[in-house]
Amino acid sequence: MVLLFCHFCGIRLTLEEGPKCYRFYCKTCPYVYNVNQRVINRKYPRLKEVDEILADSKIWDSVDKTQVKCPKCEFGEAYFMQMQTRSADEPMTNFYRCANKECGYRWKE
Ligand SMILES: [Zn+2]
Ligand SMILES: [Zn+2]
Repeated sequence: MVLLFCHFCGIRLTLEEGPKCYRFYCKTCPYVYNVNQRVINRKYPRLKEVDEILADSKIWDSVDKTQVKCPKCEFGEAYFMQMQTRSADEPMTNFYRCANKECGYRWKE
């Protein structure tokens, strides 16, 4: 049996039956690997789950930074991530993490 590991977390992926085909998914982040094709962020987690996912700082290592003011420390730069939550008619949610290492405050809009 082939074992797959999450590109973000490095943990072993779990196999489940997806809507179209079998797929491997990561228990701690939205990474999904379909057996036929690779898709990222196709699993729409609930906002509460997203909050838990983003509490893991490793996930922020590979995302882009943007010019935005941290509401806590007023640092002018933050890591930025956009994610679709479970319901498709909800707009994408923007998640931020303060780029000031001493702060690391997270917020969303
Ligand atoms: Zn993962
Ligand atoms: Zn901050």
